[in-house]
Amino acid sequence: MSRKSTVDPLVLDILSKVRPTPMVPNGLSDEEKIARIAHNFREIMTALGLDLTDDSLEQTPMRVAKMYVREVFAGMNPKNFPSLTSIENKLGYNEMVTVRDISIISVCEHHFVTIDGRATISYIPKNRVIGLSKINRIARFFSRRPQVQERLTKQIADCLCLVLETEDVAVCIAAKHYCVVQRGVEDAESETVTSDLRGAFREDARTRSEFMSVVTGSGR
Ligand SMILES: [Zn+2]
Repeated sequence: MSRKSTVDPLVLDILSKVRPTPMVPNGLSDEEKIARIAHNFREIMTALGLDLTDDSLEQTPMRVAKMYVREVFAGMNPKNFPSLTSIENKLGYNEMVTVRDISIISVCEHHFVTIDGRATISYIPKNRVIGLSKINRIARFFSRRPQVQERLTKQIADCLCLVLETEDVAVCIAAKHYCVVQRGVEDAESETVTSDLRGAFREDARTRSEFMSVVTGSGR
């Protein structure tokens, strides 16, 4: 059985419509990816002059490789997309629904160091609703890729529009980039804020300000 057939065709359809992360499919299984990354990470450590026979370091290449494939970059593999069942909006609830303080842990694709932030996500239900934890899971899936924050924000919004069958979606992410904290300007406090406001959140001033008051905390 090919690996692709294990992924729900609906998931593949959704992911094909979300703006893409630049990727070139290489046909490697997870185990093959881990072996190749471990081999190459060993090269990086050796080039840095580390002693790979030291018992604290000898397992690091394999540890890093498993962490990349199974955890921090798991969102590159469609098979790790969360199972989503949207259900009919039987209550006819049509006010803003917000999930805030969603933890966003991602990796900057320019430096491969941590992006650490929080997201606020709102939508106005039309015919479909989903369990609220699914919103966190979608945010986490796209976070688990090498990212730039602007793309991450838009991928989450693209995906929610498709799953919820509405354009009335807003995503705001505030995050600290460790490539700014640890290197370069070494600013430990600055945060980057990105947002993607669609549908009523873009067009309706009242909806927009309701969302922004939740984001800034004045709506608490
Ligand atoms: Zn960076």
